[in-house]
Order: sequence, then structure tokens, then C-alpha cells
Amino acid sequence: MEKKCAQCGHVMYLSLRKVVYMNETQINHVPVYNCTECDHNELVEHVKEELKRFLLQVVPAEGAGVFSFANHSAFTRVMLRMSQQTEQKPIDDLLDLYLLARSLNDAIWMDEIKQEWLLRANCE
Ligand SMILES: [Zn+2]
Repeated sequence: MEKKCAQCGHVMYLSLRKVVYMNETQINHVPVYNCTECDHNELVEHVKEELKRFLLQVVPAEGAGVFSFANHSAFTRVMLRMSQQTEQKPIDDLLDLYLLARSLNDAIWMDEIKQEWLLRANCE
């Protein structure tokens, strides 16, 4: 899973990162692209809505603390499980496929890929 850095044009890699919000809330496992050259970070487009909902609803309701974003985002949950496995390749393939399906606005295909993720995630 790679993407071109908007700042310097270098390659960015997808990873799960720790994000600190309002200095008091720590959110673990946020999927972001990180540039190896200039350290520019970019949130994965697909989780923007989930992260917004999380910050606006879950954090005010539960108060400051340490959270895992994987508990609030199916996409992140699957990514996290996959990243904990030694074999990295399958998720890369699926993520690439998923982004392709998304860019084509193909909802049925996107659902199929999500199902496949969940299947693989359950087969650990
Ligand atoms: Zn860069």
C-alpha cells in the first residue's frame, strides 16, 4: 500500500499510528500514510468519517483517556489484525483492491472485499 507524498513526492506507506487529540486523549491504531522522506502524515480517506464520529461522540461521552481506534472502525480493526500476522501481503492486495473499487464507486465490489477481509480476519 503506497501513495505519493503531497509535500515532497516521495513514497508514503500505510501504517497504524498513535494520535494525541487535545493533549489528553490518546488514540492508538489510526491508519495514516507516512512519508519516509519528510515525515508528512495523511489520514486514510476511508476512516475520516469514522474518526470524526469517534472524536465528536465517543470521546466526549467516555472522557479523555487511551483508546484504540480499532474498536470504532471496522476497516482499522481488520487492518490491525492483519498487521499482527506475520504474512503482510494479503492485506496489501485487499487494500489495493478496495481503494480501486472505491475510486470506481463500486459499492457491491467494495462490500465483497470487506466480506473477504472479515473472513480472513476470522481465520487467524
Ligand atoms: Zn514527503
